[in-house]
Amino acid sequence: MTNSLPDHAEIVVIGGGIIGCSVAYHLARDHGVDVVLLERSKLTGGSTWHAAGLVGQLRSSASITQVLRYSVDLYKRLAAETGLETGWKMTGCLRLAMTDQRWTEYQRLATTAQSFGLDMHLISPAEVKRMWPLMRTDDLVGASFLPTDGQASPSDIAQSLAKGARMHGARIFEDAAVTGFDIADGRVTAVHTNRGTITCEKVVNCAGQWARQVGEKAGVLVPLQPVKHQYIITQPIAGITTDLPTLRDPDRLTYFKEEVGGLVMGGYEPNPMAWTLGDVPDDFTFQLFDDDWEHFEQHIAAATARIPAMETAGVKRMINGPESFTPDGNFILGQAPERANFFVGAGFNAFGIASGGGAGWVLAQWVASGEAPMDLWVVDIRRFSGLHRDRQWVCERTLEAYAKHYTVAYPHEEYLSGRPRIVSPLYDRLKNLGAVFGSKLGWERANWFAGPGEAAKDVYAMGRQNWFEPVGREHQAVRQAAGLFDQSSFAKFEFVGKDAARALSYICANTVDKPPGQLTYTQLLNSRGGIECDLTVARLEEDRFYIVTGTGFRTHDAAWITSHIPSGMDARLNDITERFGTLSLMGPRSRDILERVTSSDLGNSAFPFGTIRPIECDVDGASVRLLALRVTYVGELGWELHAPIDALADLFDALMAAGSPLGLKPAGYRAIESLRLEKGYRAWGADITPNDTPMEAGLGWAVKLKSGTDFLGRVALEKIAVEPLKKRLVAFTCDDPTVTLLGRETILRDGAQVGYLASGGYGYTLGKPIGLGYVRSSAGVDADFVRSGHYELVVAQARVSTQAHLEPLYDPAGQRVKA
Ligand SMILES: Cc1cc2nc3c(=O)[nH]c(=O)nc-3n(C[C@H](O)[C@H](O)[C@H](O)COP(=O)(O)OP(=O)(O)OC[C@H]3O[C@@H](n4cnc5c(N)ncnc54)[C@H](O)[C@@H]3O)c2cc1C
Repeated sequence: MTNSLPDHAEIVVIGGGIIGCSVAYHLARDHGVDVVLLERSKLTGGSTWHAAGLVGQLRSSASITQVLRYSVDLYKRLAAETGLETGWKMTGCLRLAMTDQRWTEYQRLATTAQSFGLDMHLISPAEVKRMWPLMRTDDLVGASFLPTDGQASPSDIAQSLAKGARMHGARIFEDAAVTGFDIADGRVTAVHTNRGTITCEKVVNCAGQWARQVGEKAGVLVPLQPVKHQYIITQPIAGITTDLPTLRDPDRLTYFKEEVGGLVMGGYEPNPMAWTLGDVPDDFTFQLFDDDWEHFEQHIAAATARIPAMETAGVKRMINGPESFTPDGNFILGQAPERANFFVGAGFNAFGIASGGGAGWVLAQWVASGEAPMDLWVVDIRRFSGLHRDRQWVCERTLEAYAKHYTVAYPHEEYLSGRPRIVSPLYDRLKNLGAVFGSKLGWERANWFAGPGEAAKDVYAMGRQNWFEPVGREHQAVRQAAGLFDQSSFAKFEFVGKDAARALSYICANTVDKPPGQLTYTQLLNSRGGIECDLTVARLEEDRFYIVTGTGFRTHDAAWITSHIPSGMDARLNDITERFGTLSLMGPRSRDILERVTSSDLGNSAFPFGTIRPIECDVDGASVRLLALRVTYVGELGWELHAPIDALADLFDALMAAGSPLGLKPAGYRAIESLRLEKGYRAWGADITPNDTPMEAGLGWAVKLKSGTDFLGRVALEKIAVEPLKKRLVAFTCDDPTVTLLGRETILRDGAQVGYLASGGYGYTLGKPIGLGYVRSSAGVDADFVRSGHYELVVAQARVSTQAHLEPLYDPAGQRVKA
């Protein structure tokens, strides 16, 4: 190790915990770049040195599961490369179930594992007892067992990665604290440290719980919250052997692993304790908090009830350390939306050891190429928004996520904390109409409407939930008359400039350079041809476009568009989300209803499908000018009405008054989900992701390959277009209406696994459960292949018969949309 810092490095990695070491290792090993890692104190001195070291792999996202599997694979073989052991032991992991709900959760998890290629099986209490003789099992329904999970030594992994990084040419400096950045033209150009300045091309912020304050110095938001997390290490206990599986007992909120003949035991309490809302002290290194037995007592009681031998075991040590948690329980990875050359890997929610290897692997690829190597949306830093600057809000939501770590995960569950946070002007009206809200990026959005005598709240269950019937009523109203949806939370942008059309043409896969008044549904592709965004572009004027995308994709899509404007072009994106409210009026009577409040011509020739028009509405005696977009996500005639936010409430009242006699009903997001599944409309983040190309997704018709125009992803698509598709999105229906489809169910074709569902739900018009999922085959998947198979779905471990469909299940010719 040399002592003086270099003047320049291609990439500076900040933080020498497991994540920084892993990023430096992978950057040096796989990308041969010039990397410098700076650690304020000594390697592992943040959260890494005191982690318990459990390593699990299964998550609800296929990509994140792949990331965690990579960690395990790396920890197995790293010592052979570096000569430094990682302490990896493949003991397997047991998860105990004490209730039927938990058991159903595990049946679904085991199916998810199967879908993702992991072998998880469910075992009886007697088998649990054989594997873990000291455990009390008489209160168990059973357990899940994932044999390839295990445990490792956190500091040893980090040191082994650091050694590997050095072996591949990375330079690591301890006692080198980053104190600030130079920024020019929106990019970081240099990193200041207590030992001098390093100019650089890229920066990776892996500063653990300090990542928020390090990010702030570069104007980058990293919304994490340090929380106190405790575990104890007992003296050796007779009967505890080194090969015992790690153990999670979520119904008792605790976890265990063997350590030197004793046990590590910790837990996730329902009343977690945030550390600080201010800055984390710079000198908090290799430090812990005082033991907090009063707070930990709840876990002792639960643990001794499970493992009675713990009652008499001496406690060797308590660890009470800080770890950074996030508002949704997922870590934070990727390219900062605020600075194109600033990357983040932080907020690991007490699974940073399990994630470390894989997170470093994918983040290094992201840093090196500027593009995420796979669908990493659930951990993508661009899933946050300005809302997350509110530390108090982030803290509350984070503590709720922490407290839910081990609770049964019911489908469709909503967070409760920090609500309501952002409301549309219709909030009170909708509430009075029985709305039950969900929260998306801080916005309250009506999920469904309770009728008279029905409780206006979600009652969660593993099967059908209490909203099943009310959502069915909304669905039918939309199919038979009309529904009115408040979609004001849609992200809305205006894209302007002399070169706006040229720039957008390059960024969008579909033809957007059309005359003013035309609308285009388009995907935005990465260099692999994968779908990065899925949105609507409307041309308002020669040099002005209006772009609408999903609530949750606001930061992500804006960052993608902005960062891909070809250099030198005069084009810019302005976020105007809050300026307009959106009411979607959808259903066969929507024209009749809208005609009652506007004199504008809504006929097919004046206002055909796929166009945008300003219209004047007569609202409460005043004339309101709004933008009407003739589009649909539910498969019916309809308009999205984008009105000045101040006029939204009056517009809503006018439409409800005009429409109620014609059968208009307020409707919510759960009805949209059912309606769009019947039409086979794709949802970004589930059915279409950066892993999927438009051809695979059945969206080849929306790509301008034949146009000769250059666009992002074109080169990749040209190759893909001439090869047989290896996967293809297919719709599935089940004849048994009681089957609950949620996504991730395994698809079997002639008894062999060919994929899994990307999304699932229920179609009320069909009266059937519906799923969308990719059917895969290395030999190619064409229509004949899809049609010639006999299909089953594995749903919570049970085989269910299903039919595969390539056409939309509802109105395949699209006549209703164009009515
Ligand atoms: C009690 C406890 C038990 C846990 N058990 C497990 C477990 O069983 N399994 C699991 O997977 N995870 C577990 N974790 C989580 C795990 O410890 C963390 O997720 C992981 O260590 C995070 O690594 P990191 O590299 O992001 O952060 P850190 O290890 O905190 O590293 C960040 C580094 O950045 C440095 N730094 C900060 N600011 C600067 C600056 N300005 N300049 C230079 N350097 C800077 C810090 O000094 C620090 O070394 C546990 C955590 C706790 C608290």
